[in-house]
Formats: sequence, C-alpha cells, structure tokens
Amino acid sequence: MTHITQGFSSKSENLIEKENKYGAHNYHPLPVVLEKGEGVYVWDVDGKKYFDFLSAYSAVNQGHCHPKIVGAMVEQAQKLTLTSRAFYNDQLGVYEEYVTNYFGFDKVLPMNTGAEAVETALKLCRKWAYEVKGIPENKAQIIVCENNFHGRTTTIISFSNDESARQSFGPFTEGFIKIPYDDTEALENALKSSKNIAGFLVEPIQGEAGVYVPSEGFLAKAKALCEAHNVLFIADEVQTGIARTGKLLAVHHENVQPDILILGKAISGGVYPVSAVLANNGIMDVIKPGQHGSTFGGNPVAAAVAVAALEVVREEKLSENAEKLGIILRKGLNEIAERNPLISLVRGKGLLNAIVINSDEESDLAWDICLRFRDYGLLAKPTHGNKIRFAPPLVITETQIQECLAIIEKALNDFR
Ligand SMILES: *Cc1c(COP(=O)(O)O)cnc(C)c1O
Repeated sequence: MTHITQGFSSKSENLIEKENKYGAHNYHPLPVVLEKGEGVYVWDVDGKKYFDFLSAYSAVNQGHCHPKIVGAMVEQAQKLTLTSRAFYNDQLGVYEEYVTNYFGFDKVLPMNTGAEAVETALKLCRKWAYEVKGIPENKAQIIVCENNFHGRTTTIISFSNDESARQSFGPFTEGFIKIPYDDTEALENALKSSKNIAGFLVEPIQGEAGVYVPSEGFLAKAKALCEAHNVLFIADEVQTGIARTGKLLAVHHENVQPDILILGKAISGGVYPVSAVLANNGIMDVIKPGQHGSTFGGNPVAAAVAVAALEVVREEKLSENAEKLGIILRKGLNEIAERNPLISLVRGKGLLNAIVINSDEESDLAWDICLRFRDYGLLAKPTHGNKIRFAPPLVITETQIQECLAIIEKALNDFR
C-alpha cells in the first residue's frame, strides 16, 4: 500500500511515526494528520484544507467544532464537569426531559460510547425478558443480523461475523441467533424457533458493512413480527440516527418506533463521548439502583453538550438538508458512474452513502483512490475493501456537494 506520496511534509511524517511507535496498531489510518476543523472542512498540519466525507463515522453531523455545541461544552466545563451518579447534578434531568421528548420515549439511560449503549440495551432486553416476559433464567436469545457492526466489546464481537474482530478474542458470550440482514422470512422463522426470544437487534442501514440499505418495508415488517411474538425491536441508530439519513431516525422512513433505541456518535456532534438508550417505562423500569451504571454516564458536560447538539439538528434543519443533498449527491455519483466504469454501484439514504469500486474486496484500489481524493482535497475511507463511504457533515451546501463531485470524478479519472 502507498502511504507517503509526493509533497507529504516531514511534519506529518514525524507525527505519523510517533503514533506508529507509541500507539497500539489497532487502526490503519489514511495518511493525513489533521489539526483543525470547521463545518465541513478539516485542515492538516501543513494548512491544507479538505472536505471531510467521513464525519468521524457520522459523529460530526452538525459540522466540525460547531460554535453552539463547543460553547455549551466550554461553559459547562468551567462550572462543573463530573459528580458521578452518587449525587444529582443540575444538567442531567434537563437533558433527560429534553431527549426523551425529542425522540418520544418515557425514559433514557445515559452512557458514553456506542458500544456501551449497545451493551446496555442487551442487558436491558435480557432483564425485561426474564422479569416481564417470563423467559426462564439464562435462556434468553437475541436475534442479530449477519455482517452487523455494533461495537467492540467482548459480548458484541461474540455475534459479529467479521473474523478480524473475533480472532483470538474468545471465549464468546452465548445467547445470540444470527440471521441474514433484510430477510423477514428468516426473522419469522427465528422468532418461531423458540419461546425464549427476547429481542431483535438491528441497524436500520448497515453502515460499517458498506451502507447496505434494506428493501423497503423491511423495518416495518420486522417491527410487526417482533410485536406479534412479544419480542423487543432494538434499533442501533448510533450511525444512522440524528438526521444522517434524511429523517431524525432511519426507522422513521418506515414510521417505526423501536422498543429500545440506541444512540451515540452525533448526539454530541462529535465533541464529547455521549451515548443513550431510550425505552418506555414497561422496559426501562426493570433496571433498579445498583444494577447498571457508568461513572461518566450522564455527567453535566455530556448533558449540556447533548442538548446543544440536538438543538442544532432542529434549528439548522439538518434532516431536511440531508434528504435534499443526498438526492443531489447520489444523482451526481450515478452520472459519474455512467462515464466511469470504476464505480459499479451507488447506494445510500440521505447523506449516508457509498460507492462500490469495480474490484474485489482484497484489492488496494479503493485505498489508492482514497489517497488520490486526499491529494485533491477530500477525505474518505474504504470500508470492507472495495466500498467507499461518502458521509459529509449535514451542514454541507449544494455548491459544496458539486465541488466534491468534481473532485471525486477527477480522482477516479486518474485510475481509468
Ligand atoms: C460506531 C458504531 C457503534 C459503536 O460506537 P462506539 O462509540 O465506537 O463504541 C455501534 N453501532 C453502530 C451502528 C456504529 O456505527
């Protein structure tokens, strides 16, 4: 793989070398060293400006360093940062009221990272299954989908089928049934296969797998099937949620209200680790004091930041913008695909999109194309070999989208 291209400064090289030498090698970053961000742009250490077409995996939906969100964080950080949940603080209740009304649930359980929120949802689902549904202790099963991505904890990787995420990390947690994604028949069979099914955990669009959009009606049918079998429908909207796909939640495209909703990433606009699990009282009330928690979960900075980040989504109409500009982006990408056979497929919803490069998954071509995008001022990263995700901050304008389409086509033409 090409790492260093012409014009790459010694300043960048030194900083990359430090990460290589002193940091665990659990990532393989694109070689660009960033030091500043504003809106849809980021700048590297040599002052070169780029469009950010990844948005930190959809955490930065509101744009980099949004002044209102950063302002809320700075103001709160100067007053009170952490109390732990041993005491009340003056921000948490305000946030909890705001976020539950915002998404239409009775209660929220605040955590920090996406994986922690997924873990929380799984524990909540199991407890509900034993104490409300009446499944015998230790028998609960949760249905998940093939090619899922829900995070990196030991339990979550237990039901991943990405071998690199699992290899040598066993033994794994039991109690999961895997079915193909976007397959209501498989879901129905799994639901009928046992009386001990507690929940169905699903991404409304599979982001990490390469932006797989399920067929229309899948989410609504899956929700109805879960209801019919008294099984909780758990939506992992850590990546798809909060305006990314053109609606506040991706499940809203099919008017589905999940039983448990998992949020992370953009709930803080990418300025602070904030995640949340939302559910109604009949489910959330199974958790009693001492049974689950987090030292940082629900801290005053997180609460103040999340309120500001959610206000920005409304005030700046980010769902509407994602919907409108997503259509323009996919149209432009499809036009490029007609002129350049390197793109074999364009897919996505709102501003969560991907192109599939005409090469096999093991090829370096998508990586090399991303290096060329970088050279021309746009940052994107391959996922699963030959797919490149295009997910800019939702504050992007139509003029900027057109500018980005020109960069994308110019770079792709270099590989013809
Ligand atoms: C990113 C992501 C997670 C994990 O979030 P972390 O904050 O990285 O732990 C979980 N689910 C989905 C769908 C994600 O995209």
